[in-house]
Amino acid sequence: MPYKFTFDLTMVPQKFFKELAVIIDSKKIHKRTGKILNSMIERFRLSELTGLDLTAILQVIEDIVDIQLKNIAYRQKFIQSSKKALFLPHCARKYIDNRCRAEFDPEIPTFRCKRCSPDCLINQASSMAEELGYDVYVVPGGSCIPKIIKTHGYDGIIGVACGEEIRLAYTYLNEHIAAQAVPLLKNGCSKTVFSLESLSKILQKPSGPGDREGLHRARM
Ligand code: SF4
Ligand code: SF4
Repeated sequence: MPYKFTFDLTMVPQKFFKELAVIIDSKKIHKRTGKILNSMIERFRLSELTGLDLTAILQVIEDIVDIQLKNIAYRQKFIQSSKKALFLPHCARKYIDNRCRAEFDPEIPTFRCKRCSPDCLINQASSMAEELGYDVYVVPGGSCIPKIIKTHGYDGIIGVACGEEIRLAYTYLNEHIAAQAVPLLKNGCSKTVFSLESLSKILQKPSGPGDREGLHRARM
């Protein structure tokens, strides 16, 4: 389910996300802690940068905060999970018309990237994850994820999607699955953008269970 508006946070300074991560880490922030978010949004002039009104930008940032808090809560369980998969959104393909050479397998369902464009986010993200031993799916929507998880018995998953789709995906999961998520920085259901750096931190395997550094690396 997409947001009812489009957003593009790619021009928001990294300092904003770093500061947000520090506040989340220190647990001084909680979902719906509007005051802190409002002042940060104002200080970094996010409405001006993104062209969104305050209500919309607040909704997007609150969703990002909620995702980060859940990532922290489930990180240890995710690290300890034995079978992991990465779910990528089809909307982040470089092309969503027939210039994309990916084959669609309706049985799973997933797109199978054919690596036609080295600068395609899906190509880069799936290569990175496969090298680390993850199974990768490029899905047409979040509703197909439960079937894939059940069929293959995954107990650790990473999902990349817009905040609303991630929020919906949490409702598909049960207590046996540890999830981590990376929110889109630009939505709109085509040519969407996410941070490869954030994904890389989440994908990285820590050196051992209980590795605090691994926990920190996974944050933003
Ligand atoms: S690199 Fe893969 S996902 Fe990207 S446009 Fe080419 S085939 Fe499609
Ligand atoms: S932006 Fe992408 S992940 Fe979000 S609803 Fe649209 S297609 Fe799905």
